[in-house]
Amino acid sequence: MSSSRALRSSPDDPSWVLDLGNLTAALLPEGLVLQPMWDHLQQHHQPLLRSPLFPVVLSVSTYFVLVGLYTGLDLLAPTWPCVNRYKLHPQRPVTSVHVCSTLGVTLYNHLVYIFPAAVAQWLWRPATALPRQAPTLWEFLLGILGCTMVFDFQYYLWHLLHHRVPWLYRTFHAVHHQYSQPFSLVTQYLSGWELFSVGFWATVDPVLLRCHCLTAWGFMVFNIYVSTEDHCGYDFPWAMHRLVPFGLWGGAPKHDAHHQKPATNFAPFFSHWDWLGGTNTSTTSSTLSGTTPTLSTEEEVKEEMKGIKTKLQTIHLCFYLLITTSSIYDTTVT
Ligand SMILES: [Zn+2]
Ligand SMILES: [Zn+2]
Repeated sequence: MSSSRALRSSPDDPSWVLDLGNLTAALLPEGLVLQPMWDHLQQHHQPLLRSPLFPVVLSVSTYFVLVGLYTGLDLLAPTWPCVNRYKLHPQRPVTSVHVCSTLGVTLYNHLVYIFPAAVAQWLWRPATALPRQAPTLWEFLLGILGCTMVFDFQYYLWHLLHHRVPWLYRTFHAVHHQYSQPFSLVTQYLSGWELFSVGFWATVDPVLLRCHCLTAWGFMVFNIYVSTEDHCGYDFPWAMHRLVPFGLWGGAPKHDAHHQKPATNFAPFFSHWDWLGGTNTSTTSSTLSGTTPTLSTEEEVKEEMKGIKTKLQTIHLCFYLLITTSSIYDTTVT
């Protein structure tokens, strides 16, 4: 029932009580924000939204727009002090050689891995079903938060494993550590296996949490935004780690520290897994001194393995709590 009908009701008409309720519901932010936008999208862009290629187009275009903006800032920073002052390493400019080399690997990855995966989706994946109703604002935000937390945990374990096992590090993850002071194009400077793992979780997590497709796309965009911000090399006032309180979000300074001290800060976004696993490091000036990342020696690995059993027990307990919480969340939203 529309708000205009509520306004037309006379005081003698007993239905005004119901209309007032509907008017209140109509004015609630969650009713206003998503349903009209979802209706508009369905009316005008349905074929595009239903296409199995849409999530690929959305994620690839989001990535290149963000990387384009940050790369523009990187190239301007040496002559623009108002930009350079926010850089984590103002003395070390990003050069056109850095841009070309990382862009080359990025384009190679898109051509060899992402393009064939997109064609496979186009051929075999059915068109996306679009529900008539949009998620409420609460469901949308909670869904993105839930997916981000699950993704954060999955990548934390993957990342820890690929640093602890020298063969995994050398074969799959070392390429990402080629740059000890990352910039935005390093975000997807990855091996095919790492790119596949990250893309798989970003696609599957919204399905696991039974999110609305609008929430899934929102998570996809948010995930790319925060991953790029992690590597951007800037500490802007609007950065996530400055917006999220209590140091819960690691952000660019902590991930930058990981590229210099590879045995620390394994979680991509939140800080709690590194706190619990004892791998958290603060981003002091000594952390950002610019050392070259090196692979852990065998003795260091053995030493770290001694404490890993206790850490895994803690992680197991936290994982159990996470599953319980997500079950409660699932019961709440369905
Ligand atoms: Zn990185
Ligand atoms: Zn790493």
